[in-house]
Amino acid sequence: MVLAEPRTDTPHIDPVASAPSPGPRPSRLWRPRRVLVTPAALEHAHGRAMAARAEALGLPVEYLAANRLTGLRNPDSRIAYREAKATLAIVVAPPTKLRLQPIPPSADWRFDLAEGCPAHCQYCYLAGSLSGPPVTRAYANLDAILDNLPAYLGQGAITSTQADRAHEGTTFEASCYTDPLGIEHLTGSLSAAITRFGAWDAPVQLRFTTKFAAVKPLLGLAHNGRTRIRFSVNVRSASRYEGGTASLDARLAALRAVAEAGYPVGLTIAPILPVPDWQDAYAGLIRDVSGALAGVTDIDLTFELITHRFTPGSKNVLQGWYPGSDLPMTETERSRKLTKFGSVKYVFPQDLMQSMRTDLTEEIRRSLPQARILYWT
Ligand code: SF4
Repeated sequence: MVLAEPRTDTPHIDPVASAPSPGPRPSRLWRPRRVLVTPAALEHAHGRAMAARAEALGLPVEYLAANRLTGLRNPDSRIAYREAKATLAIVVAPPTKLRLQPIPPSADWRFDLAEGCPAHCQYCYLAGSLSGPPVTRAYANLDAILDNLPAYLGQGAITSTQADRAHEGTTFEASCYTDPLGIEHLTGSLSAAITRFGAWDAPVQLRFTTKFAAVKPLLGLAHNGRTRIRFSVNVRSASRYEGGTASLDARLAALRAVAEAGYPVGLTIAPILPVPDWQDAYAGLIRDVSGALAGVTDIDLTFELITHRFTPGSKNVLQGWYPGSDLPMTETERSRKLTKFGSVKYVFPQDLMQSMRTDLTEEIRRSLPQARILYWT
């Protein structure tokens, strides 16, 4: 098959990440080719700290004269994409980011530490939600973002109101618009959020999902069980769609490490695809998860099962970003659905959906009977 987006990103991803260890290849840390810092970001201690981190890593840091990011567009959309994916901007989150939105079926609320991600997943869910070149923006006003959360305590309408999830408390999802672990070495924002939730003596939970594996900085944090770390995984044959992420084996090793560090953990199997021999492939994936957790006791483990879907808008963006991709996105092979906002999305036909749901659910129950399946979508 054609490899639409060869891993051209890897020269910018530095294998300095994790301590050398036997087993999976070390995760690579992103090294942006440009780091832009706005004057407003420098007014915040966290903005200055992120700029200092970038300087300490020897990255080229540009201190801008104005707060607006300009010059990121290019008439050649491929060049614009490549340059944006190699750029980290340290900015102040706009005030709209402090008005939280519900994020069903994952959590009561979503909040953002950053927006954008340096990886190159051909099925990236961000394609449908970001506008403009996909620069990664890390937010400098972290204190304001975290100080804003207590106003939402006890007000959720998603997990807080579901009998079987109410014990999770008010849940806050931090990975809707970014992969916070993929940029943690540059931001430190995730560690700050985990520590803040750990000290928040209330029924709350921070949640994030990641396709990265550099969890070492998180292992010693005082999380107090108030952060659920989920790893987004897929069958091995889908790895060609996930340029610039950590390998599956590295993610599973990281899963074990954070479970041993006492974090509630989870797997987000996403996006589920009817690859050839999908039954065996997904059963193998679930058994690999089970193997990775073998011998770890007292695990609080969840699964979230998300099938592939696309909208006309996300398909258009993804085909612009990855023009040769063989990711199946043919409308006639899908069921057309209307979202509650009246927009169109394409999902798998009902029969296939049901069959995949039954198969994956049964395999999880067989291989990991202690796990809770939070939802299928
Ligand atoms: S890791 Fe997640 S956010 Fe990043 S490109 Fe892949 S799917 Fe998108």
